[in-house]
This record gives sequence, structure tokens and C-alpha cells, in this order.
Amino acid sequence: MTAALDLLDLDPSLSEEERQIRDVVRQLVDDRVRPHVADWYEDGKVPARELAREFGKLGLLGMHLTGYGCAGASAVAYGLACQELEAGDSGLRSLVSVQGSLAMYAIWRYGSEEQKQRWLPSMATGEAIGCFGLTEPDHGSDPASMATRARRDGDDWVLTGGKMWITNAPIADVAVIWARTDDGVRGFAVPMDTPGVTAREIRRKMSLRASVTGEIVLDDVRLPADAQLPEAVGLKAPLSCLTEARYGIVWGAVGAARDCLETTLAYASSRTQFGRPLAGFQLTQAKLADMAVELVKGQLLALHLGRLADARRLRPEQVSVGKLNNVREALAIARQCRTILGANGVSGEYPVMRHANNLESVLTYEGTSEIHQLVIGQRLTGLSAFA
Ligand code: FAD
Repeated sequence: MTAALDLLDLDPSLSEEERQIRDVVRQLVDDRVRPHVADWYEDGKVPARELAREFGKLGLLGMHLTGYGCAGASAVAYGLACQELEAGDSGLRSLVSVQGSLAMYAIWRYGSEEQKQRWLPSMATGEAIGCFGLTEPDHGSDPASMATRARRDGDDWVLTGGKMWITNAPIADVAVIWARTDDGVRGFAVPMDTPGVTAREIRRKMSLRASVTGEIVLDDVRLPADAQLPEAVGLKAPLSCLTEARYGIVWGAVGAARDCLETTLAYASSRTQFGRPLAGFQLTQAKLADMAVELVKGQLLALHLGRLADARRLRPEQVSVGKLNNVREALAIARQCRTILGANGVSGEYPVMRHANNLESVLTYEGTSEIHQLVIGQRLTGLSAFA
């Protein structure tokens, strides 16, 4: 972040190691992402496999996990990496979040030793790509109603159903699929080349265009008994994975907002109207000041949650506070920045509208704003207002 934007001097509160990790990821984003991301976004095509291997080389995939080739970094270091990645594009942070916090975490936390040995080392290097199938065409915010079924046939499992809006699905080697069994919800590590599994790319997205999203159809997919994640019992297992990924979003959204504000500060300082830079108008300064205040509040919140996570004290509803606030405010910042850029604000030559469009998805996935309000509301009142 430019020194001017670090209004609260947060930088010195990071450790040397945390700053180093942040700077390495920032450099990667500057070198590898910024020069190309506008084209990836416009074309709706991103070299995800190639990027995954580069991210893997830096230890960014499953970076907060331990063993199996994972970096074992702190939660704050992982958050800082998410912040830098999303300053590049939310789609790239999504790639890393889904790989590390959803697919790898599910196997790491709930898988058998054989499943961990089989998948985690190659996922950590980016050789294998994972996805996480919870959402269905008819069941999004309410995954407890999922229709995908897993039934026993001898020792085997047979999966039938479909998953929708699954990040990385069309390029994945393995999908963690959540399905209803006679004993409740269970998770399965499904190799994507299993007969009966098909993945189709979802096209015409107006958001997260530098991210691959797909639909998975499961047509009588026969799996051996050992495809089931043995420790995953009930819906709380996928929900715990979502908490992991939401934590990364708390940081990532701030990165997108920061990139918008940095771009806008530079633009407003150099663009002259009525004989003075836009940055010199009081109305512009009011916008800039309000946005900078929200940005540092978001950063403080992310850092606080990160410190709680590193102390093993972070609770899911606290992550909801962070996801709700930081994504909502990041989207507001992106939209406000766009106004300051005038017509250039709608151009892909600047990152602002791309970030704003991306943040529309980020607002919806990993629990919509309304779902996080309900989580917080339940914590406050003791009353569930979900159904
Ligand atoms: P719905 O649940 O139909 O909700 C529609 C609206 O109704 C929302 O505003 C919602 O807040 C509101 N609403 C719903 N219930 C209530 C209620 N009780 N009270 C008040 N309001 C309510 N899913 C995966 O499993 N894996 C992925 O990798 C993945 N990647 C994604 C990538 C992208 C680009 C997108 C856009 C989505 C992705 N998703 C993924 C799906 C995402 O998690 C869902 O879209 C999200 O959970 C919301 O579900 P829905 O779209 O079905 O909306």
C-alpha cells in the first residue's frame, strides 16, 4: 500500500516475515498478473493451470496448512497473500482460496491418510487442481436441502445429482463433493475423470471473468468406499471449510479496494478539470477520505481476525463480521472510485470496474451478505431467522 493510504501506520504491526511474504506475493502480482489481467478478464480466459503451478512454487496453495508439502504459514501471512492476490484480481484469489481453503482443507481436515497422501502434495505444487462442490442449481444459501445423493451399493458409493457455480470445476483433477446419504451429509473426493462425471464451463459471466466456473453433473458415479472423507460427518464439515475460505475473503476484498483507491488517487492527482486536479476539489477529497477510512477499518478488522485465528480463537460468526463488512465496503469503494474516474472508470484500461464487477460475485459467494447478517443476528439475539 502507498504510504499515504496507510493512515493508521499498520505496516509496522506486521512481523518481518509477514511483510516479506506480502512483498513476494505483491511482486508476483506485479510481474505475472497486472500486465495480462485486463485481457484475461475481457477474453474470459485465464491460464489457471499455469498460474496454479507458479503459485504452488511460492507455497501459496494450502499455505496455512501443515505437512504434505504445505507451507504451514500463519493465518495473517495467508491473509496478506490473499490481499495481494485480490489487489490483482478477485479471480486469482478465488483460484487460491478454492484450492487451499476449500478443496485442500477439506481433504486435510477430514480425509484419510491415503487421501491426504494421494492429493495434497500435488495440489500444493499446483500440479493437481481441486474444486469444492456444495452449491446446486436449486440449493444455494440453503445447502441443507441439497438434492445430490450418495447411496451404498455393496462397498461402493454411487453419486447422483449436480453441482452449480463451482469454481475451477472445468479444469479440476479432483472435486470435493458434498452429498446426502441415509446418515446425513457426507463428503467425497471424486477424481474428475471418473465415469459419469462431467463438467461444463459457465459462460457469459459478467463478473470474475478471470476465473473458471462450471457446472458438475454426477450421473450414477460409482466410487470405491475409500473415496468418502471419513471424518466429515454432517453439514458442519463443509461449513467449516467455508469459514476457512471466508477468512481469506476478509483480507482479499480489502486488496481489491486498495487497488481501486490507489488507482483513483493517482488519477485524481493527475487529471485536471476547471484548472485544477480532481484531487483538489473538496467533493473529491470527501470521497477519498471516506474511502480511505473504510479501507483502514477493513484492514484493522482483517488483521484482528488474523491474530485471533493464529491464537486459535477465531469463531465463525466473527468471520461473518469480517466478510460482511469488508466485501460490502470494498464494493462501495470500487463503485465510488469509478465515479472519480469519470468515463475512464468504465474502461478496462483501469482496474476499477473490473474489481467492482468481481466484488459482486464475492458479495454473493461464500455466504451472501444476508446470510452473514443472519449469522450475526442469531449470535446477537439467540434466535434463528434463517427459515
Ligand atoms: P440464493 O440462495 O437463491 O439466494 C438469492 C438471494 O436470496 C440472495 O440475496 C440471498 O441472500 C437471499 N436469501 C436466501 N435465503 C435467505 C434468507 N433465509 N433470508 C434472507 N435472504 C435470503 N459454490 C460452491 O459450492 N463452490 C464454488 O466453488 C462456488 N464458486 C462460485 C463462483 C461464483 C463466480 C459464484 C457467483 C458463485 C459460486 N458458488 C460456489 C455459489 C455461491 O456460493 C452461491 O451462489 C451462494 O451461496 C448463493 O446461493 P444462490 O446463488 O443459489 O442464491
